[in-house]
Amino acid sequence: MSTMRTTDTDVLVIGAGPTGLLLAGDLAAAGIDVTLVERRPHGLSNMTRAFGVHARTLEQLDARGLADELLTKGTPLPRARLFGRLDLDLSRLPSRFNHLLVTPQYEVEHLLERRAKDAGVTFRYGTELRGLRQDADTVTAELTGPDGAPFTLDARHLVGTDGVRSAVRTALNLPFPGSSVIRSMVLADVRLTEEPGRLFTVSGSGDTFAFLAPFGDGWYRVMGWSRTRQVADSEPVDLDEVREIARRALGTDFGMHDPRWISRFHSDERQAPAYRVGRVFLAGDAAHVHSPAGGQGMNTGLQDAANLSWKLTAVLRGEAPDPEALLDSYQSERHPVGAMVLRSSGAIVRLAMAHTPLTRTARALAARFLNAVRPASARAMGMISGIGIAYAPPAGSGRPAGRRAPDVRLREGRLYELLRAGEFVLIAPAGEPPALPGTAPVSPARLVRATWTDPARRTAVLVRPDGYVHWTSR
Ligand SMILES: Cc1cc2nc3c(=O)[nH]c(=O)nc-3n(C[C@H](O)[C@H](O)[C@H](O)COP(=O)(O)OP(=O)(O)OC[C@H]3O[C@@H](n4cnc5c(N)ncnc54)[C@H](O)[C@@H]3O)c2cc1C
Repeated sequence: MSTMRTTDTDVLVIGAGPTGLLLAGDLAAAGIDVTLVERRPHGLSNMTRAFGVHARTLEQLDARGLADELLTKGTPLPRARLFGRLDLDLSRLPSRFNHLLVTPQYEVEHLLERRAKDAGVTFRYGTELRGLRQDADTVTAELTGPDGAPFTLDARHLVGTDGVRSAVRTALNLPFPGSSVIRSMVLADVRLTEEPGRLFTVSGSGDTFAFLAPFGDGWYRVMGWSRTRQVADSEPVDLDEVREIARRALGTDFGMHDPRWISRFHSDERQAPAYRVGRVFLAGDAAHVHSPAGGQGMNTGLQDAANLSWKLTAVLRGEAPDPEALLDSYQSERHPVGAMVLRSSGAIVRLAMAHTPLTRTARALAARFLNAVRPASARAMGMISGIGIAYAPPAGSGRPAGRRAPDVRLREGRLYELLRAGEFVLIAPAGEPPALPGTAPVSPARLVRATWTDPARRTAVLVRPDGYVHWTSR
């Protein structure tokens, strides 16, 4: 029998970006001891970067009591327009959040950081992971503190949420295969003299494309690319270059002025082959990276965190009947989603860059098809917004297990309000507590019990803490 060593913390999370903050907050809220290590000194924030929060992410934030506050800090966009002709009507999404919320990434991070602090996460800023080793029951992280002095911390599990250049991934000797998808993109947060409407717009001629979205507070995010100006990221960029690209792609620069941030960047499409190695996990940009088209990087990382946090919690509480299988399901559920996001965001960029007659025809046909065929456009919106993402049902459970649980109204309140307890929710007919399946990784004492408002509903449904169906009695 192995004797477990005492550890400094149950879970060590490396990197306080959005992914690490959500994960650490969830674990601490569930009573798990968490330490969050961040290389940046305290008070130095990440840049704006992500500008859009999709519907499924808003649902996850709703399940943590944060969505309504975030809605006050952004602009909901009910429609998006791609390539000048493809209209995506997000108002048709079957969600309380039937839009894209345009808000700077730091607003999401502020909310998640506050929640993590309130829940009792131990933050260690100015601290960098340099290496790690693991054995059967412990992970040892090799760190340097704010004074540069090396030290180690032992944990039961470690999660690398340390971004695209992840030191955790490197320490695991994992490759990050893929390639550069687009180079020399320019980005600016600007003010405009002409009102472009509330549409999120991506348009392009094949030789240029540009994208524009309002933050809602007078600032706009503009991104652009020109085939004729392909230079290194280090090459300076000024507002004239951004305006010129916008004029060529959108027909106008809307009188851009007063940039608060201008940058040039390139974007890779890469995915780690494994999200789990023993006691160590990867999530967010550490696990996958792709073009910002579709605005899905932060959103995908937050969904990774929501998927992993309850599984680690169940295992650390000793409530998972098969802990190894439950932890492996993080990889089997989230790796295919990461691969799908790489494909879809890559397809948007490639269509935007289409410049041969053949590829431009393909783009026009794709737009016409999606505009005309409702199920196809609903599917595209479901994938981009995250609302349509489902996982394979656990062995023997059959559909609808693995599907997103919609926010139904129950006698005790909305489902996503009940999920704020961070536990499984069992919805059953009044007065008939069903026998739970032996595979449920939860102790009956922790279940949140709820009742259908419709007395005719005879089935029972067990909803996971991340809002997916675990089991149904039918
Ligand atoms: C221009 C641009 C626009 C984008 N637009 C969107 C969008 O609209 N929607 C969207 O969803 N996504 C968008 N993204 C992507 C999004 O910004 C990222 O996917 C998101 O920040 C990833 O979050 P993360 O927590 O996984 O990693 P990060 O945000 O990169 O956080 C990683 C953290 O780890 C810390 N760290 C790194 N190494 C170490 C170490 N060794 N030790 C300790 N700490 C360490 C870093 O300091 C950082 O704080 C955009 C990105 C760019 C560049």
